[in-house]
Amino acid sequence: MGQKTIVVGAGPVGALAALYAAQRGHEVEVYELRSDLRDPSTTPLNFTKSINLALSERGINAIKCSGRADLLESIIGETIPMRGRMIHGRDKSGELYEQGQDYDIHGRTLYAADRGGLNKILLDELESLPNVKFFFNHKLTGADFRKHTAWFEVTNKTTASQGRHKEIEVNFDFLIGADGAHSSTRYHLMKYTRMDYQQEYIDTLWCEFQITAKPVKSGQDENSRFSISQHHLHIWPGKEFMFIAIPSLDGSFTCTLFMPSSHFSALESNPSTLPTFFNTHFPGVTSLIPPKDLITSFTTNPHLPLLSIKCTPYHFLSSAVILGDAAHAMVPFYGQGMNAGLEDVRFLFSILDKHSSPNSDQETDTKVRATALAEYSEFRTRDAHAINDLALQNYVEMRASVVSPVYKGRKWLEEK
Ligand code: FAD
Repeated sequence: MGQKTIVVGAGPVGALAALYAAQRGHEVEVYELRSDLRDPSTTPLNFTKSINLALSERGINAIKCSGRADLLESIIGETIPMRGRMIHGRDKSGELYEQGQDYDIHGRTLYAADRGGLNKILLDELESLPNVKFFFNHKLTGADFRKHTAWFEVTNKTTASQGRHKEIEVNFDFLIGADGAHSSTRYHLMKYTRMDYQQEYIDTLWCEFQITAKPVKSGQDENSRFSISQHHLHIWPGKEFMFIAIPSLDGSFTCTLFMPSSHFSALESNPSTLPTFFNTHFPGVTSLIPPKDLITSFTTNPHLPLLSIKCTPYHFLSSAVILGDAAHAMVPFYGQGMNAGLEDVRFLFSILDKHSSPNSDQETDTKVRATALAEYSEFRTRDAHAINDLALQNYVEMRASVVSPVYKGRKWLEEK
């Protein structure tokens, strides 16, 4: 029997890690707190329809290196290329303007992806493999990383309604914790390794809105369902806050308002002022989202916090490692949280591969894995911390610097 690798968390990072492990012949078990997200009754992460993400080179490369033919094509096929950002505002004469700023002079793009959709493709791919088993509704509650044992609380509809839970014990050779920003794996890992840990909530909350797709009349171009350019990430910078819109394949846009908590509180106490607030700070949005819908989204959708986490090391001996948000949750302004998590998977397995040798016995495998995990922690910490810092800095870039004269100057030069 092959090495038993258990993955905690079936988000994008856990699912890709499971795929990499399965491709190497491990017996893989995936444990996920929630029910299967492919089941329409599953509450999505963050309790909204789904967040749209920018998939970029880091993530694309990691998917490409999974060794699964056609996987990248399937994922990219469900995305929309975004060539740049589109800045919206009002000029001195009061006219609405939009200004495109390309990401790359060679025309390379980011891809707008539906987080849930991307996750589903990865889970479908895993399901097709004989050496992968899923355990949904299993929540990691404890782990003994010396004894290679973990405990999971199992819930189903009946036990949950009766307030009863069953606990199971699972043995493993190697545990990969990809259980997100509030990682239980990380919490238990801290008891085994001298982990430095830093957590910061920034004073910004986010709330989701939708620009709906326009109906397409017969004979009309399919692209006419998009109200604004579908090949841009749209930004309404507001200096202290911002509103963004990312295209979806169905012609709608998933929009996010990022704003300090004090502004949220002020608007919560008087939501009817929201359209005026938008007209002042995000000109043009109320012609894309009717004021009634703006208010409904604001009062119905959650106002969620943003967290930045740095820690190190990420592993304990040969037993466990944390990846993705569990290791380095970051604020979303650099569009790299998931991408960096997917990249973790690629780096982790390339280091494990470098150290492994065919036909070695279990004892050697264990030693080699401990060496590889130590190298991974050492190698990855600096990059992960740097990406976290860049993500924080890019908030200023997106909400304020995009309207600085530097960009206007560049545009002027391009036009010359
Ligand atoms: P998660 O997606 O959090 O998945 C963790 C999984 O573990 C979940 O399924 C959870 O149910 C499960 N779990 C949790 N606890 C347990 C437990 N105890 N036992 C078992 N299972 C458990 N990133 C980008 O790259 N580009 C973007 O454009 C981008 N935009 C963003 C916009 C917003 C508004 C936000 C909030 C984030 C954005 N991100 C973006 C970040 C991205 O969403 C995360 O980095 C990514 O989802 C992390 O993936 P993950 O698999 O590590 O963790």
